[in-house]
Parts: sequence; C-alpha cells; structure tokens
Amino acid sequence: MATLTAQALGLVDSQTRSVVLPIYPATTYLRDTDNQYCSGHVYSRDDNPTYKPVESLLCKLEKGEDALLFGSGMAAAVAVFQALRPGDHVIAPKVMYWSLRNWLLGFATDWGLQVSLVDCTDTEAVARAIIPNKTRLVWLETPANPMWTLSDIGAISQLCKPHQITLAVDSTCATPVLSQPLTLGADIVMHSATKYLNGHSDVIAGALITAQDTPLWQRIRTIRRAGGAVMSPFDASQLSRGMRTLVIRVQQACRNAVAIAEALQQHPLVTHVHYPGLLSGEALALAQRQMPGGYGAMLSVQVRGGEAAAIATAAHTKLWKRATSLGGVESLIEHRASIEGQGTPVPNDLLRLSTGIEDADELLADFIQALEAGHDV
Ligand SMILES: *Cc1c(COP(=O)(O)O)cnc(C)c1O
Repeated sequence: MATLTAQALGLVDSQTRSVVLPIYPATTYLRDTDNQYCSGHVYSRDDNPTYKPVESLLCKLEKGEDALLFGSGMAAAVAVFQALRPGDHVIAPKVMYWSLRNWLLGFATDWGLQVSLVDCTDTEAVARAIIPNKTRLVWLETPANPMWTLSDIGAISQLCKPHQITLAVDSTCATPVLSQPLTLGADIVMHSATKYLNGHSDVIAGALITAQDTPLWQRIRTIRRAGGAVMSPFDASQLSRGMRTLVIRVQQACRNAVAIAEALQQHPLVTHVHYPGLLSGEALALAQRQMPGGYGAMLSVQVRGGEAAAIATAAHTKLWKRATSLGGVESLIEHRASIEGQGTPVPNDLLRLSTGIEDADELLADFIQALEAGHDV
C-alpha cells in the first residue's frame, strides 16, 4: 500500500512522460466526424479524466471493482440513499456523523425512505431491525463519530446477504490503511476524502467504492452525472497529491493517538477516554480483527467538571487547533456537543481530538496544560 500510494499507482502520462498526472480543466470534448466520441469523453459533468487515476487507486486500496469521486463526502453518502426508492427501509447507526444523521432524519424521510436509527455496535439489534422485503440498505460508520465504537462489518454482512440488503460503510476514520470493509463483506465503502485521504485540510471531496457493479451502483453513477455531484479537476489533482503520503501520515497519527490516549487515561482530570485501542473484551477483539492496521487517530476525552471545564480546556490549547473536521496533518480539538446542538447524543463534557502528525510529547504536554488551565489547577 505504501508503494501504491507513494507512486499514485505508478502511472505516467503517456504523451509527456510526466510522473505527475495532468489536470484536465476542459468542460467539453471534440466530437468525431462520424458523430462519435473516440476519446469516450463528452462533457465534464459526466466524467473527467483527472478523476480516473484517483478512482483507480481507491479501487486498488479498498479491493473494489469500481470507484467514484464526488464533490464532498456528504454528496457521496447522500447519493447512496438517493439511489433507493420511496418506501425502502434503511438502518443507520444511532451515533454517527452528525450532518448525515440530520440529513437522514430531515430530508430522506420526506422523500419516502423509512429510516431506523439502531445501536449498530449491537449486531443482534441490527438483526431485529431488519424488515424482510423492505430493508434495502444498512449503513454503518466504524469507528463511529465521536465515541469511536465499532460495528462488526463481517457479522452484519452475514445478516444482510440472505435478504439482499446492501451494506455500506462510512470508513472515513478507518481509512484503507487500517481497515478494508469490502474484504469483510461490505458492498460499498464511503470516504469523506476531505479527511485522511487528502490529509491537508484543503480539499472538500468524497468517494464511493463498490465491490461489484450492480444496478444500484449504476443508479449512484447516474446521480453523480445527472445530479452533478462532481468534484473540480483541480481538487482531484490535489487529492491525488495528498494520497501519496496517506500511509505514513496515518501511521504516524495513529502512533500519536495511542500515546496520547494511554497517557490521558491516567490523568486525574480525565474521566473517560474513548479510543478503539482502549476497549476491552469482545469489543477489543473486534477492533483487533477489523482494524489490523491500527486503531485510528481519532479519540474523545471526557473531562472532569462538565461542559464548562471541557470548553475551557479547548480554549487553553495552543498546539491543538480549535476547529471542526479531522484527518489533517495538524491536530484539531472540538467540543462536539456545541456544534451538534439540540438532540445530540454526545455527552457535554466530551472533547473530540483529531490527532495529527506533530510530536506526540508536545501534543500531550499542550493538552495537559490546557486541561489544568481549564480547571484553574
Ligand atoms: C466529514 C465526514 C463526512 C462528510 O464529509 P464532507 O467531505 O465534509 O462532506 C462523512 N462522514 C464522516 C465520518 C466524516 O468525518
């Protein structure tokens, strides 16, 4: 994977021998005298040659058959639900990426989708929520924002198969470096490529990768093309560049997260650290099986003193940047309940940390001084 990503699949531009892929800004392509398009390219809302190398690389990393880039992670996720039909039933996690949860409850239901939010960390609960001949999609996010609990992709795929239910997994926080959902039985993987794939907090992008070219996949393709959920060619090129360092970025961020999670678990001003590597029993066994590459670089910390202490802690950090989003080279900290607002299932004393690739000791020292300053210690 390190070789595939560092060399962007080893592709070289055939015309110029450029080792970096060219950007194709053209919106339209020349028609042949016989009225055909020998290049296969017609118009850039349909497709853009700048996407192809990135899509091929994502296919390879996720071990899929086909991939599509989208203008954002949300555009990619929403395309999967829009490809369903009115009356279809979908199962999604109770605790998941907040904007998608809001879209499911606020828009998808208006269009006739029946949405059940289920505790997807409990495979039995998913089994009970399936309605034969009506449930068409199970959507998982693992590890899930912002509690970093895991769902068992393999076991849930076994539940889905006999009912021909599509299993889609938001694998944004795992990245293909740590986990490959398609190899565990998922049908579609979704990434907010804005996060780890690009890794530099300078591109909004999304991707879907499918295990098989199915009628549903063709509908998703049509949604991107006809609905215009496309990415700019320049952003595709930026993403291609960002992905060259994916493996070392993710590995370093994971090492930092492990060190910080373990240290904070011992701190008297911390009541709970949420991190897949700190789970125990069955849950830890699942984390080891499902994330053989590492436990990720996202963690959440509940601090003593409630909401005020959490917000004060975030306000006193210097290295950790107080901003939303995740998966960049720089470490970010966020009080999630503030951004999620009314109805959030997230505890109000919780801080979400996106660990970057800086020096782990410096990150830890900064967090601890902020924790103490936030508590007037
Ligand atoms: C950011 C994010 C999304 C949405 O992606 P955008 O690129 O912001 O549209 C979806 N799922 C998860 C887990 C995310 O972190």
